[in-house]
Amino acid sequence: MSEAVYGEEVMGRITHGMLRLSTAMRSQAWGWAEGAGLTPTQGEILVLLMQRKTALRLGEIARQTALTAATTSDAVSTLESKGLIEKRRAVDDGRALAVKLTGKGRTAAKRAALWPNFLQSAAASLPIEEQGVLYRSLLKMIRELEVKTHIPAHRMCLSCEHFEPLGEAGKDGKAARKTTRKARAVAPLHHCNALNIDYSDTGVRLDCAAWELGSEATQKKNWKIFIQPA
Ligand code: SF4
Repeated sequence: MSEAVYGEEVMGRITHGMLRLSTAMRSQAWGWAEGAGLTPTQGEILVLLMQRKTALRLGEIARQTALTAATTSDAVSTLESKGLIEKRRAVDDGRALAVKLTGKGRTAAKRAALWPNFLQSAAASLPIEEQGVLYRSLLKMIRELEVKTHIPAHRMCLSCEHFEPLGEAGKDGKAARKTTRKARAVAPLHHCNALNIDYSDTGVRLDCAAWELGSEATQKKNWKIFIQPA
């Protein structure tokens, strides 16, 4: 297929590159899923339940995976019939049902979380400063897709009440005075008031168990500081 299908400008080339990554992801996900006797969607649900460490309602699973209610319900039923998840009453509403992993499901979820390792090794081949730039760019694109409601909102640091951008100088005023790309990738530019840790751009979490939704004003301030070019 000609690159011109997506345009000769840089946006078209970025789109083409991402679509090639998605082809590799689809192929790797199905390769793993067929070996495990599941589908990639079922694997994604297992990993989500493992990440959250708590029972989730079907509606929340559908929202987080961007699946329809019917597809989610089918996938959950199959996982239950395989003994990988179990249904229970939701903690916050005794009339509602939530699902959680069984011991067997946790083992399957750990294996399901491994199929993207091929992406990790590709990213690890980049120099640290390029890893930092790539991650920052990904976070900004994810934010843009969230705002346009193409993907569900993430429980990421930048929308969290506990996030405190320390700025270029870092906590002690000298961590990254000269904000080179490498410095941004490793210097403690941010602070978490809940976990009491300082971290760099590459330490920004995308799905955190301690996350709490920040106010609109907090989120705007966080993003305004974060998107400043390195
Ligand atoms: S580490 Fe977790 S709790 Fe702390 S700022 Fe990030 S999302 Fe919030």
